[in-house]
Amino acid sequence: MAKFVYDFTEGNRNLKDLLGGKGANLAEMTNLGLPVPPGFTITTEACRHYLAEGAVPDGLEAEVAGHLAALEERMGRKLGQADDPLLVSVRSGAKFSMPGMMDTVLNIGLNDESVQGLAKQAGGNERFAWDSYRRLIQMFGKTVLGVEGELFEEALDALKGSRQDTDLTAAELRGLVETYKGVVREQTGRDFPADPREQMRLAVQAVFESWNAPRAILYRRQERIPADLGTAVNIVAMVFGNVGPDSGTGVAFTRDPSSGHQGVYGDYLQNAQGEDVVAGIRNTIPLQELERIDKSSYGELMQIMETLENHYRDLCDIEFTIERGKLWMLQTRVGKRTAAAAFRIATQLVDQGLIGLDEAVTRVTGDQLAQLMFPRFDASAERRKITQGMNASPGAAVGKAVFSSERAVELAARGEDVILVRRETNPDDLSGMIAARGILTSRGGKTSHAAVVARGMGKTCVCGAEQLDVSAKELRFTAPEGVVVNEGDVISIDGSTGEVFLGEVAVMDPPVVEYFEGRQVDDELVKAVDRIMRRADEVRRLRVRANADAPEDAARARRFGAQGIGLCRTEHMFLGERRQLVEDLVLASDDKERQAALDALEPLQKQDFIGIFRAMDELPVTIRLIDPPLHEFLPDLTELSIKVATGDASDKDRTLLAAVKRLHEQNPMLGLRGVRLGLVIPGLFAMQVRAIAEAAREVPGARPEIMIPLVAAVQELEAVREEATSILRETGVDALIGTMIETPRAALTAGQIAEAAEFFSFGTNDLTQMTWGFSRDDVEAAFFSRYLELGVFGVSPFETLDRDGVGRLVKLAADEGRATRPNLHLGICGEHGGDPDSVHFCHEAGLDYVSCSPFRIPVARLEAGRAALTGNDSDTR
Ligand code: PEP
Ligand code: MG
Repeated sequence: MAKFVYDFTEGNRNLKDLLGGKGANLAEMTNLGLPVPPGFTITTEACRHYLAEGAVPDGLEAEVAGHLAALEERMGRKLGQADDPLLVSVRSGAKFSMPGMMDTVLNIGLNDESVQGLAKQAGGNERFAWDSYRRLIQMFGKTVLGVEGELFEEALDALKGSRQDTDLTAAELRGLVETYKGVVREQTGRDFPADPREQMRLAVQAVFESWNAPRAILYRRQERIPADLGTAVNIVAMVFGNVGPDSGTGVAFTRDPSSGHQGVYGDYLQNAQGEDVVAGIRNTIPLQELERIDKSSYGELMQIMETLENHYRDLCDIEFTIERGKLWMLQTRVGKRTAAAAFRIATQLVDQGLIGLDEAVTRVTGDQLAQLMFPRFDASAERRKITQGMNASPGAAVGKAVFSSERAVELAARGEDVILVRRETNPDDLSGMIAARGILTSRGGKTSHAAVVARGMGKTCVCGAEQLDVSAKELRFTAPEGVVVNEGDVISIDGSTGEVFLGEVAVMDPPVVEYFEGRQVDDELVKAVDRIMRRADEVRRLRVRANADAPEDAARARRFGAQGIGLCRTEHMFLGERRQLVEDLVLASDDKERQAALDALEPLQKQDFIGIFRAMDELPVTIRLIDPPLHEFLPDLTELSIKVATGDASDKDRTLLAAVKRLHEQNPMLGLRGVRLGLVIPGLFAMQVRAIAEAAREVPGARPEIMIPLVAAVQELEAVREEATSILRETGVDALIGTMIETPRAALTAGQIAEAAEFFSFGTNDLTQMTWGFSRDDVEAAFFSRYLELGVFGVSPFETLDRDGVGRLVKLAADEGRATRPNLHLGICGEHGGDPDSVHFCHEAGLDYVSCSPFRIPVARLEAGRAALTGNDSDTR
């Protein structure tokens, strides 16, 4: 029979899936012999059952009753017993920590009778007993019965006046209990349940249900925590921090979570229960002061913290309570930390001999590294701060203020940098948020739409800048001291500090970027990063290449550690002034015109390639032959039509219009692109191959690889390959010829395609587009926020490779390609190549390299190292 309840003595820290983080760690501490109040944990499995079926699983109630009886036996008191009650807390605790997102109820077991028994237990301390009782009704009322929390707070505030809550007398608190009961009756139409077992049963169910509270759902989405894990419930014998001045409650870290430095970091609140710290009901004092108040508990706590660090071999955070001079541990876990602290702590632990360097590599993530690489404002630069908001998503952004999404998109399309300023954002603002450099809102906190979406996109965001009065109608905002910012005025926002500045503030690279650029930086954090990166590079199996089309990008990519270029998109070389030449080529009416256009393009292309080969020295450079959706190179149909209709057009315009109409496509992404274009326009691919070969002849050691895009059938590839091979032979240049795998048919027929390809590079942007049938240009703005809300996926499949669908095609193509050609070289060059989880997938699928934008290369190197060290069992969050 399934077991749904574990005593703390039965669990351990490896059972987080089942017991949640809190339960597993309480068990671990219990077994370490630390002072944990006795208790037991109801499993996440029971929660999942409850959420699916709307009822607790058979047998759960009996099991809980058995464990409760054992607890009562051990404590020598019965739950809610009138003259000498056992009280318990009912605490949520999921596998991944979700701070404050789910519910907890303390002091279960109190009622009009047992409150007297509690006073007796506390040596006649009536004040304490009634304070505990009112806390129970307040917490139970709010979380279990759904009563508006403010109603309780208002009643408490009215009673307190200007006094502290500790100044309230027993009689006053007794009166407050009556008031609270009245609130419950009025709001729910029933009495506060006096039966202790009923209280416990309802509290357990409320904790189960809090898994699906809106704030919990939002938090999970933001942190990419799966929606179907459920929470465990811990039932713990109460210990009291609110019995008097010799009692209290606190939180602490075993070292500084922002810098990683060792020391005592924590807060303590005398004569209080845990929820007071969170609610900020009184100001806490620094933990060091506990030494003065209660030297023996302080000493014991320091010792326990050391035990925990040595045992977990990591920074831990803890919650504790002191009841009349006796210390109790209520929680511990491996603590959250900033990105910089993560690197520092990992290497400090190596130096302390607690972990090895390999483990240090697994203790940091690519996302944390990316955070250390965000640009920041130059602190020495002149700047005028106009307000302070919340630091919702890090980075430094400068741009013109705009007040609507449409305007953001419009200006960004003209190449302008904009900051989208809104009172708050909603899903309709997504296109503007994508177009903007940064987002600034006057309302909403760190879990507001703006904050969550911006973080998801890695975009700089300051939210909740409440001093700003934003008027989308008048296209301006006002800030303190009469500052008015109109549309088009430049502002600078710092997503790491929440500051907003008027005008442009100079942006600079952080030390970690300086380091990757190869400059000498004497910085403790940089040293930590360096040690970890070196080890990651030693252990990783995946090589890392760059997506780069210009010599400067290629050079930066090399400095960042690229081992070649995995994707040089040649169509990017045809933009700007050269666009005209492509237009001439596409619209050429005869062979002569076409040849003239090709002859004009060839020397330009050759120079492009020479630049890149030089930048990459003797490293491989994969050059993809041209792959434009055709419309990007032709004049706009509507503009041209208007010109012709209004009589402003020349003869050339008229001819052009006819041609553009002829070539117009309803679905350009599925139209004349990639290899199709190469097969339709004679001489185009040949010109490019010749330019590659000629360039390679001029750069000793150049290693070109020629890549054919958008292939769906081996016959397409064969046709191009034949022509390319003969040009290479003529010029005496050696180059691999391979293909992108970016259509589902290419993946499905990879065994055939490998006959004609020496390498595959997975174009997972198009492969995702075509596998899901999602237009890459349209869907993210159109409906992705809804899909994320519905949990169709937890993260955009354009961002993190969809293992179940697209990933399956990749794996199949890799395996079948290699079955045909065992030494087939395999890489990925879609955006996923720089995404942590996708890098792990590529490692597992046996690819040889990932290719990503230059700035993501360090992230990919680190994650490739982590993937090699953790195998298939890695968590990239
Ligand atoms: C791809 O489709 O993944 C790819 C890299 O090509 P592009 O993004 O240029 O279509
Ligand atoms: Mg593509």
